[in-house]
Amino acid sequence: MNNCFILLAAGKGKRFNSREKKQFINYKNKPLFMHSVDKAKKSKIFKKIVLVTNKQIKIPNVIVVKGGKERSDSSLNALNYLKNKNIKNVFIHDAARPNFSINLLKKLKKNLNKNKAVVPYINTNNSTKYAYKNKIVNLKREKVFLTQTPQCFDYKTLYKLSKNNKNYITDESTLFLNKNKKVKFIKGEETNIKITKKIDLYESKIKTFYGIGFDIHRLIKNKKLYLGGVKIPFHSGLKGHSDGDVILHCIIDALLGALRKKDIGTLYPNNKNKFKNIKSAKMLKPIILDLRNSNCYINNLDINLICERPKVSKYRNKIINSLSKLMNINKSIINLKGKTVEKLGLIGKESAIACESIISINKYE
Ligand code: ZN
Repeated sequence: MNNCFILLAAGKGKRFNSREKKQFINYKNKPLFMHSVDKAKKSKIFKKIVLVTNKQIKIPNVIVVKGGKERSDSSLNALNYLKNKNIKNVFIHDAARPNFSINLLKKLKKNLNKNKAVVPYINTNNSTKYAYKNKIVNLKREKVFLTQTPQCFDYKTLYKLSKNNKNYITDESTLFLNKNKKVKFIKGEETNIKITKKIDLYESKIKTFYGIGFDIHRLIKNKKLYLGGVKIPFHSGLKGHSDGDVILHCIIDALLGALRKKDIGTLYPNNKNKFKNIKSAKMLKPIILDLRNSNCYINNLDINLICERPKVSKYRNKIINSLSKLMNINKSIINLKGKTVEKLGLIGKESAIACESIISINKYE
């Protein structure tokens, strides 16, 4: 196991507009570069892990080597350090790529058995052009290789090439190709992106919001019972300015919560005649529209219906079907639970029904 993982974290991050250098910025709860350190350790492939940086830093089982002016200087510093340390293979990786998999490390290592340089690449989906002698020419995109790191090499060969190199290079495989030496290219990973701009820190620009809802209505004779937009045969219905649909009211409040738009009472004041006897489904509709217009979609809806009767299990599918239609969401993201109250209080005496719910929405830009 004479492999060494060299992590380059001495870059200036010119394309990254922040006071903290990008390799040290917090990414998914730890400094960006630590993702690579942790994966290298977890892979158990490496005898040594060398971090090249100009920051004063101490990490258990990691050797810190000072960075150079350019990337190639930094990588040479690490290779110099490894001289006479009985290292057979080196993996060189940019700290700005925190999302590679341990599986990729293993694939690289396997291919290094028969090669002196193994490099991951991906193809591009973009049409590609190339500026050549004052002309822009078309390139066949399937022939364009976008190379990634980690790249792995036979230590001695790379060290020799690095020592003799005088050119500016953006990766170590360049040294091999410049000398017409064979590089084995293997499939890289689409997710192994390089974080170069602040915006790349957000894997996607999606934010999640949660909303909570609660409602309770008295049961009264001579009124029809509506739950989640479904008419349910029962001895009483729910009292209210509207049809008293406690599930829909509860969902409306949860949605308004997630959208941070106050509450159902503000939107539909019960002293306004125009909302008298309004169907709750009608009250829900503009909020669902608002949700769509705000670039939001629903991830999950969980509902507790709190009543002694009717039996929730009997109407569960009907109610979920109805909610799915009213909210234009898939049934699979709705859950409805029934909860009795051991015959306690107003709910226990079948004089009221309550409901609570939690909704999760995603907002994208
Ligand atoms: Zn209500």
